[in-house]
Amino acid sequence: MSSITTRYTRQIPLFGREGQEKLADATVFVAGAGGLGSPVATYLAVAGVGELIIVDDDLVQESNLNRQFLHANLNIGMRKVYSAAETLAALNPDLTLTAIPERITPDTVDSLTDGADILVDATDNFTTRYLLNETALTTGIPLVHGAVEGFSGQMTTIIPGETPCLSCLFPHPPPEKETPVIGATAGVIGSLQAMEVIKYLTGTGRLLAGRLLIWDGMSGRTDYLSVSHRPDCCVCHKYTVSKS
Ligand SMILES: [Zn+2]
Repeated sequence: MSSITTRYTRQIPLFGREGQEKLADATVFVAGAGGLGSPVATYLAVAGVGELIIVDDDLVQESNLNRQFLHANLNIGMRKVYSAAETLAALNPDLTLTAIPERITPDTVDSLTDGADILVDATDNFTTRYLLNETALTTGIPLVHGAVEGFSGQMTTIIPGETPCLSCLFPHPPPEKETPVIGATAGVIGSLQAMEVIKYLTGTGRLLAGRLLIWDGMSGRTDYLSVSHRPDCCVCHKYTVSKS
């Protein structure tokens, strides 16, 4: 066990020892150990989050390495979650890491996310995103959504029962396609997602809840869209009805 006072000396003034202890007591579920998962898991691990559950069934490929800095050349062909576990353990030996090399499916999502305080969408597809969204609404666990393409990205925090859900924002999934992306874009959005988690866990600052941040790296511009509940959102409707 490293010294809390030494390791976190530059951040404890931001939220106190009490905030640091909240991080240490927290479990964060990270869906994906790729472009977004790399900055998300790295910044949460070094900030002192007690436990990360990282789920990804992919293997490390050379074409991942322009952005997925949890992995290195020597990890090519290895399960991403195990490569990530090695990197994160070296960064913070106090971290408890549960690395699960599985696909997130309707049958597994509940058991995979069990015990998490907050969910992070670091995936690259809307099928999994919608699953995480429904899990958030059924369990009441907040979800931090992020997505990137090219030089652009977006993120928002979904607080079940308060904010619109992901399906309110995006009722229809965009077409599945492999999109180009520069690592720095994933770095910007993934860092913002990690920051949302830290703010939520420590009760610090104002969350991006009910607001969608849109980052345009080509112009260096950040916009915020206020988002509202869609009256015809089938997901919100389902869980509102089931709760009543
Ligand atoms: Zn909704």
